[in-house]
Amino acid sequence: MFFPSSAPLAVLTTQPLEGPLDYLAPEGGVALGAFVIVPLGPRHVMGVVWAHATGDYPIDKLRPVARVLDVPPMQEQMQQFLIRVGAYTLTPLYNMLRMAIRVPGLADLPGDRVVYVKGQSTPSRMTPAREKVLDVLISEPDMQFMAKELADLAGVSAGVVKGLVEHGAIDARTAPRDLPFPALDHKRPGKTLSTSQRKAAKALADKQGHGYGTTLLRGVTGSGKTEVYLEAVAECLRQGKQALVLIPEIALTVDFLSRVEARFGARPAEWHYGVTMTERRRCWRMVAEQKAQLVVGARSALYLPFADLGLIVVDEEHDGSYKQEDGVLYSARDMAVMRAALEGAQVILASATPALETWVNAESGKYDRITLDRRFGSAELPQMKPIDLRAEAMTSNAWISPRLADEIDLRLAASEQSLLFLNRRGYAPLTVCRACGHQIGCDDCDARMVEHRFRGELVCHQCGETKSKPKVCPNCGVEDRFAPVGPGVERLAEEAAQRFPQARIALLSSDMMLSGHALRDHIQGIAKGDADLIIGTQLVAKGHNFPLLTCVGVIDADLGLQGGDLRAAEKTFQLIRQVAGRAGRADRRGTAFVQTHQPEHPVIKAIISGDEEAFWIAEAAERKRAGVPPFGRLAGVVVSGENNALVNDIAQKLARRSGMLKDIGAEVFGPAPAPIARIRGRHRMRLLVRGAKDQRFQAALAEWRACVPIPSQVRVSIDIDPQSFY
Ligand code: ADP
Ligand code: ZN
Repeated sequence: MFFPSSAPLAVLTTQPLEGPLDYLAPEGGVALGAFVIVPLGPRHVMGVVWAHATGDYPIDKLRPVARVLDVPPMQEQMQQFLIRVGAYTLTPLYNMLRMAIRVPGLADLPGDRVVYVKGQSTPSRMTPAREKVLDVLISEPDMQFMAKELADLAGVSAGVVKGLVEHGAIDARTAPRDLPFPALDHKRPGKTLSTSQRKAAKALADKQGHGYGTTLLRGVTGSGKTEVYLEAVAECLRQGKQALVLIPEIALTVDFLSRVEARFGARPAEWHYGVTMTERRRCWRMVAEQKAQLVVGARSALYLPFADLGLIVVDEEHDGSYKQEDGVLYSARDMAVMRAALEGAQVILASATPALETWVNAESGKYDRITLDRRFGSAELPQMKPIDLRAEAMTSNAWISPRLADEIDLRLAASEQSLLFLNRRGYAPLTVCRACGHQIGCDDCDARMVEHRFRGELVCHQCGETKSKPKVCPNCGVEDRFAPVGPGVERLAEEAAQRFPQARIALLSSDMMLSGHALRDHIQGIAKGDADLIIGTQLVAKGHNFPLLTCVGVIDADLGLQGGDLRAAEKTFQLIRQVAGRAGRADRRGTAFVQTHQPEHPVIKAIISGDEEAFWIAEAAERKRAGVPPFGRLAGVVVSGENNALVNDIAQKLARRSGMLKDIGAEVFGPAPAPIARIRGRHRMRLLVRGAKDQRFQAALAEWRACVPIPSQVRVSIDIDPQSFY
């Protein structure tokens, strides 16, 4: 659709307004979906030509669109996608639009820019700063940098870059604003696949180009899921369509990028927070112009303006990080399926331990299922062995049982790697005054401060607030009696260093504040054998390949089972199976030792026996009985604000007005103070709504929220299909 000069039209802006506003098409007209700048009061704001004029304003009062931006218009499927995600997650449209245009330089004028690349000469005088700049250019030979970006990456001042240009060590070039990504060659041969891999790859490739469909690609760790779904990507590229691969952890993209390069001869586009501004802008634009064939990204890549999307792969689809927990509360896995349905594209959900939702959808035939049940080559799945902590002679402030320690000694003697897994960041979860028992808490949250020795401070894991460890107890005034209680990975590393003095120990935790580069180097070094003993949080569970690793020790298998979380069993099962899967990838079989106080617990038993189908059948039956996802819908409602009385009042009012929810058969539980009743100084009350899987669920929730006037100091957030319940 095209609006000729001065035709009335509606523009959706990113401003918090009810809906689109009417304007007149600019001189020369404008297409539906065009990105534009429009006047709004005294300001100019960004928006998208959304629809025909609403007719809410007299036409003679309308102002014209100020400028049409130099990017391809938003496609209708994308509009529909934003509308549907908005309706599903109860998010206003203007907020959805913000997600779709979260990219720098959208309003830039067309034209050239100056970029810096490595030059021919060497400067007569080398300084450490100059060397840093040249190192960046050498390690990223395909990149073009703007001066400031290059200086920032190298950690030097812009003057250093300028100096190098004068010496001819760096060349300044005029380049078109954004370069297309190098073409990927789908004709290059991939790895030689095993018979079962080939069958799986063919089945996936055959589905390409036949409209929408979702397939669960289930395969034990090391079965070659990546190799297999790359064949579907190849077919998608052969058909001239674009593909998107979502990955749960940026640290993993590096490995994936090299695999893509090996397979297709060039690197794909990247989209995540570790990517430079220039590259983000380039990625967004090239995706829209169909000059990027494959994007590897984090969940927000779902909102990129693909010109012709053929395939979305969600790797490790069960991973919790696919759920966005602030701002717009959405599950990237579920929204990938929604986007693909709108685009007529295929979805591949890859996992060794699928989410229960996905498993149920595959069981019911809503999704297809392809299974790889053996590891590639001679590698065998690890043996799983429980260690009953009740029967071990545990010393105080030690978490490695004698039996596990003996096993690690054996591996050390054989020059094999071991991994100790504990899903707790920091040194100790509690810091307690030995004189009075006082625990150091966060001033702004109902949470204990966690000691991080590496960083030398106490950190609140809720709000990120830090303080130094006090000398004097604020409760009893006694000096120097604070003691750490319980283990975090840092403390575990300390214990390991004492117990295995000869071992080289590497700590892998998400809060080590390493840059993407450094983390990648660290992980690659470990994979090559730079460490004998790896100690890590769930960062290590996610798909890294450690070929020398033959022994995994799960320090506390019971940790995730505490707390009344709906998904506690499922998450524990997935996490421990994933971690165990790190062991024994090459020619030596691995063993995973699972320390537990309750070896008879059904979840622990399922983990040990590895009977995954039985676990899912039991878990699904349990959820069905309780009428919770995936058999029913849940919405977590959090009312929060600084004024506790006001928060209480609104929560009560919401509970009293829940009639319209009862009309659609939904039940409302609560309100009750949230398990973490205060975060960042805001008091929190929770309600839980449980209903049938019904089109009307979200609409009824929206109506319900709207009938209680919410003062501006109070926020009501509604989380559909919540993952966390704190
Ligand atoms: P998954 O994603 O299922 O854990 P990957 O695709 O990462 O499995 O494969 C595990 C390892 O086995 C990788 O190092 C991969 O390169 C290797 N591999 C898998 N299939 C093949 C194959 N057909 N030929 C050679 N190597 C393979
Ligand atoms: Zn806090």
